[in-house]
Amino acid sequence: MGKIVRTISTDGAVMMMASDTTDIVAEAAGIHGTSKVCTAALGRLLTGTSFLGYRLKEDNGSVTVRINGKGPCGSVIAVSDSRGYVRGYVTDPKVELPLKANGKLDVGGAVGRNGFLTVMKDFGVGDPYTGQTAIVSGEIAEDITAYMAESEQIPSACGLGVLVNTDKSVACAGGYLIQLLPSADESTITAVEECLKKSKTPTAMLAEGMTPYDMCRSVLSSFDMEFLDENDIYFRCSCSRDKVEKALISAGEENLRDMAKDPETSVTCQFCCKKYSFTPDEILKLIEY
Ligand SMILES: [Zn+2]
Repeated sequence: MGKIVRTISTDGAVMMMASDTTDIVAEAAGIHGTSKVCTAALGRLLTGTSFLGYRLKEDNGSVTVRINGKGPCGSVIAVSDSRGYVRGYVTDPKVELPLKANGKLDVGGAVGRNGFLTVMKDFGVGDPYTGQTAIVSGEIAEDITAYMAESEQIPSACGLGVLVNTDKSVACAGGYLIQLLPSADESTITAVEECLKKSKTPTAMLAEGMTPYDMCRSVLSSFDMEFLDENDIYFRCSCSRDKVEKALISAGEENLRDMAKDPETSVTCQFCCKKYSFTPDEILKLIEY
């Protein structure tokens, strides 16, 4: 179980969310058998996407974030619902790269820097919104900050971190998203910038045992941060046999008749690796729909 918390400064100028996604990232890494650098890339995107989902006002909305900079790990994709529950995958999860000179995992190198971060928001009703921004560094937090500024015109700061042990297990993971509210002025911006210069990384704070609420107060130390709300969050896939059947039906009668020639047709969910198997009879039944 992870935790996400939302806080606001008492002057109403800054909102900050922070989360502990250690368990979520560990579960995702276990499901997908990710390399260390892919665990970091997927974990950061899951954590960042969870913030974008939790920002939605609609109860049944969702946010899909895809980043592809033509790097060796391919696309990294994450989806969050409006509770902050996430799922995601990496197209080439086994790719490993040498550590950077500073000893950190080379997430930017794995993702690549020649491409886009694409955000699709589904509000549950009406048309979805799609925003796309050029990748800044491929390190994901900076890319989400750029998306917020360019696509949503919201000045923000994002910090995301995944600390992976040498045995590939996840030591801790989490992050924060700070956004300026309309009443923010120049002095607010300067104060936030000063706080960020002094602040510790998300993984350093988590390793010290801080809760997400502690992280909000620690990062924005010169503001008086007030608790707004919080939620327990999970790695949660929305796939079901029913949805897989609908997808198969949409393949059309001809394709279904072809599939029925095989002794078994199986469909594996990209997000959670759950396998759905169908006998020829079950496939033929779908034609009747
Ligand atoms: Zn699934």
